[in-house]
Amino acid sequence: MIKHKVVIIGSTGSIGEQALEVISHHSERFQVVGLGAGRNVKRLVEQARQFRPRAVAIGEQSHYPHLRQQAGSVETVAGEEGLCYLASLEEADLVLVAVSGAVGILPTTTAIKAGKTIALANKETLVAAGDLVMKLAGVHGVAIIPVDSEHSAIFQCIRDEGKYLKNIWLTASGGPFRDYRPQELSAVTADMALQHPNWNMGKKITIDSATLMNKGLEVIEAHHLFGVDYDRIRVVIHRQSIIHSMVEFIDGAFIAHLGVPDMRIPIQYALTYPERWDSPALSLNPVAAGQLQFEEPDTSRFPALELAFAAGKKGGTLPAVMNAANEEAVNCFLRGRIGFLEIPEKVARVMELHRVINHPDLRQILEADAWARECFKSQL
Ligand code: NDP
Ligand code: MG
Repeated sequence: MIKHKVVIIGSTGSIGEQALEVISHHSERFQVVGLGAGRNVKRLVEQARQFRPRAVAIGEQSHYPHLRQQAGSVETVAGEEGLCYLASLEEADLVLVAVSGAVGILPTTTAIKAGKTIALANKETLVAAGDLVMKLAGVHGVAIIPVDSEHSAIFQCIRDEGKYLKNIWLTASGGPFRDYRPQELSAVTADMALQHPNWNMGKKITIDSATLMNKGLEVIEAHHLFGVDYDRIRVVIHRQSIIHSMVEFIDGAFIAHLGVPDMRIPIQYALTYPERWDSPALSLNPVAAGQLQFEEPDTSRFPALELAFAAGKKGGTLPAVMNAANEEAVNCFLRGRIGFLEIPEKVARVMELHRVINHPDLRQILEADAWARECFKSQL
């Protein structure tokens, strides 16, 4: 049997670990050839012992000596260069980009240039550099298969009927504070925000889900993946997270994608596309799921969603700036340095101060990202 040869960048995170579970479940059909993480040497080494990749990479240079000492005979690399080396390993067929944040941009573009199929969990890469990344994928004839549950759902609903598409309906759980009043929102802490009602995810995306910035990032992600204008992307709160998203066709037909909220399903689909294999996830019992509800998002309480629509519509370097400011804001919130409502406030301020460059190249996007981080820090 021919094995799928996979590299995972961000293997120690929530998506990375679940991808390795999927791979273990089908161990006779997958071969892990590269694993990369940020700083968690201990877990990376454990994974390397179990999956025996050809190479492992650690993003944080300072952790390299520790990795080198622990990794035994496996090849070790470090830093951005190391991640890019992993992304272009000759024997790899598919690269799963599962890092959190704009740090995913360079490994993704490197993997595309090397002709690898991309399974993309890292939405920040498309938010910051979507025009460039999609164009590059077209030039190199590379498929970008979404891992994000909504986009995986949309990808599966559209199939080859994109020309009949009217609207995309992105569903959102609404996060843990969907029923909070404004004065309650001002007092929420990082610990409270880290308790997501439906999904167990990394810290950054969990905070983004609480502010609705995650849905905003997903709007921009959908725009790039499916080539759909912003006025044809709708967001609807669906607290049960059973419908993962819907598409509406010009004849009035809606197609929705349903399933239990378990990321192993869209992760596996991205790794096996266009095939479907059996899954370790539980199957959905529609009767047990009960009522499915839909509500308008409240952008007065959760303004981040509108910031993202505005950034996406304006385009150029603005989405990269919004994304970088948001990464910094989430970090500060997690450390207790700013309040919950200050996240969108401060992101909006950085966006206002930015002079947008239209049609930026990769260097200008990375510069805009760095500028936004500095600008954010100067606002503290
Ligand atoms: P986590 O925070 O759980 O994991 C992030 C991973 O990236 C870790 O392996 C981390 O390594 C690694 N990493 C961080 N910084 C660097 C760096 N500088 N160089 C190399 N590796 C780095 O995030 P998630 O798994 O939750 O999310 C990953 C991406 O997937 C995000 O873009 C998120 O939006 C998206 N996504 C996640 C979903 C989920 O259910 N979790 C659902 C849909 C999308 P280390 O552990 O060593 O720090
Ligand atoms: Mg999602």
